[in-house]
Amino acid sequence: MNPPELIVPGRADAAEPMTTMYSRFRAMSAGLLDLVLPLLCAGCGASGHSWCDRCAGAVGESRLLLALDGAPPTVAAGPYSGPLRAALLAYKERGRHGLLGPFARIMATALLTAPLLADARAPAPRWWLVPAPSRPAAVRARGREHMRLLAEQIGERIAATGATVGVSCAVRMRAGGHDSVGLGTRARRANLRGRLLVRPGELPPSGAKVVLVDDVVTTGSTLRGCSEALAAAGVVVSGALVLCDATGHSTSRSG
Ligand SMILES: [Zn+2]
Repeated sequence: MNPPELIVPGRADAAEPMTTMYSRFRAMSAGLLDLVLPLLCAGCGASGHSWCDRCAGAVGESRLLLALDGAPPTVAAGPYSGPLRAALLAYKERGRHGLLGPFARIMATALLTAPLLADARAPAPRWWLVPAPSRPAAVRARGREHMRLLAEQIGERIAATGATVGVSCAVRMRAGGHDSVGLGTRARRANLRGRLLVRPGELPPSGAKVVLVDDVVTTGSTLRGCSEALAAAGVVVSGALVLCDATGHSTSRSG
């Protein structure tokens, strides 16, 4: 078994520059909000925990396996509804950083137990997690790269099982385009066309099991675009791991 290891190459360079005072203020504000509201469950509002046992139990039973046209095999930790949707929005848009741990735990479990991606008979593989990029304008508004932070936490949990794990922002998104909320498949593809670019210095090494990581899958356009961009650079993507499934096209459920 390989020694546990988490590799984060070029970490300082991987982040989009956050040089404005506004971005720093947003990041500080997000952290403060998490201190103010840590004892209200982000999923159901119950007091006592930032993510209560009932919500954790409900999500733990709802892993979804997705086959989306042109996208790599995808595993979702749960549906984009109910407590998980509420918690994701709280993390993503309202700075509830305390949810990183619970999200990373359920996503790491989903990845390691998904028959599409993990082979329990194989020796511990060398995983390489590539977070889906956000629009630069969204990163500035949030004051952080929310998917990079989540991918690093997932990587730490997988490394704790004895696997070697790398995390790198190998795909970036060029500025421009629109928020994809409300767009259909064709419009999403057009919105992303020519805007997903690889960072040559951040590419996963050959032989690594490359997994894209994103928060929500809706049409699969982002996962497809990232996979195609990496393929053009000679990197084969084995699968994708998302927190929430908003497709309505899940092919199977398993606990
Ligand atoms: Zn709850």
